[in-house]
Amino acid sequence: MYRLLITVIGIYLLYRVLRWAMTALGSGAAGPTIDRGSGSTSINEMVKDPVCGTYVLARDSIHVRTRGQTYYFCSDECRKRFLSS
Ligand SMILES: [Zn+2]
Repeated sequence: MYRLLITVIGIYLLYRVLRWAMTALGSGAAGPTIDRGSGSTSINEMVKDPVCGTYVLARDSIHVRTRGQTYYFCSDECRKRFLSS
């Protein structure tokens, strides 16, 4: 009876270790990675509205993906003005 219990616990621990190893290998590194200067805009980054020149937080802005680039706008009005130009 106890042998079975020990076997079950052993398998469970092995499973946990394997899962941990898979997660560590799968994500490349444990924990969040800080990506600097890769060209991608993070959601907490300040971006310039090309229409009025206002700096807006990418997360709160209205963005448009066009011609392979992403543009950020402070308001829907700026977005419309940009698209009509
Ligand atoms: Zn604007």
